[in-house]
Amino acid sequence: MNAATLAPEDINQNVTGSPAKRVLLLKPRGFCAGVVRAVDIVKIALDTFGAPIYVRKEIVHNSYVVNDLAGKGAIFVNELDEVPAGARVIYSAHGVSPAVREHAKERGLKVIDATCPLVTKVHVEAIKFAKQGYSLVLVGHRDHEEVEGTQGEAPTVTQVVSTVEEVAALVVPDPNKVAYLTQTTLSLDEARYMIEALKKKFPNIVGPHAQDICYATENRQTAVKNVAHGADVVLVVGSRNSSNSNRLVEVSQNLGTNSYLIDKAEDIRAEWIENVSTVAITAGASAPEILVQDVVQYLQGKGYGSVEEVEVMPENVRFGLPPEIVQAIASAPPIARDVTA
Ligand code: SF4
Repeated sequence: MNAATLAPEDINQNVTGSPAKRVLLLKPRGFCAGVVRAVDIVKIALDTFGAPIYVRKEIVHNSYVVNDLAGKGAIFVNELDEVPAGARVIYSAHGVSPAVREHAKERGLKVIDATCPLVTKVHVEAIKFAKQGYSLVLVGHRDHEEVEGTQGEAPTVTQVVSTVEEVAALVVPDPNKVAYLTQTTLSLDEARYMIEALKKKFPNIVGPHAQDICYATENRQTAVKNVAHGADVVLVVGSRNSSNSNRLVEVSQNLGTNSYLIDKAEDIRAEWIENVSTVAITAGASAPEILVQDVVQYLQGKGYGSVEEVEVMPENVRFGLPPEIVQAIASAPPIARDVTA
């Protein structure tokens, strides 16, 4: 099915089909401010400098977004060695370690940093705690790029933990000088559980002033918590490697409501919605709205006669562009500036 725009009049009103079968469209859902910014950065860089533009790792964890940008001339690489010396490279929203930044310098690469400011906040905290002599415990998934980047800020004093068993096994030089940080996209409940375990083991442990789990992760989980009890199934639009999307599935399942992660409408299995009257739909922070609309249309085609948008809370966060992009736009020839207008 081709993605198409869902007109506002299609929301909050009955369409052809059974009114007994309804769709609840959760809000907020989908793109967060960090993802909007990262995708804009790649698009503006392509418009301003022309293709190819190299991007280290997936700019955000969504296959539709990555394929779309690749079609416009972005080249996604796993490591900087794959970028020709002197070329322009963009760091993904998940951030990079100082070792990667150093490597880019050695290779003479022109860097544009699309790291989400809320990931940068965690990096800054890691640097601060390490400078103050703390042992750092980073709660997160060690194979995730964000965790690799944060750990890289203070690799010799940082240990990553993902389970309470790993917390129990922690060994540090001074149990009274320990600080914790978390990945930005964890489950709020899981993070609370882990932090409680850390506080039990290290009663004097300190943490960030404000939680590291970002507003977008929290808001999307809160929306699922508010609506899951009234739905038979929660469909989460997002890619397999998207941490916050996976957490949304877990939040729903923990509340006893079946939930499935889908990249696109075609992934929906007939048995998931057999005899199901209410389907709730949400989307991870890196999943574009066009895919959500596709899912809504698919369900309408299956007889879901009512589509109701359920706004659990307003969300109006925006991040500014990085200075490299602002300067590039300002100094670009007039024709290139027109393209980005
Ligand atoms: S999910 Fe949160 S931390 Fe990640 S890019 Fe979005 S706002 Fe930033």
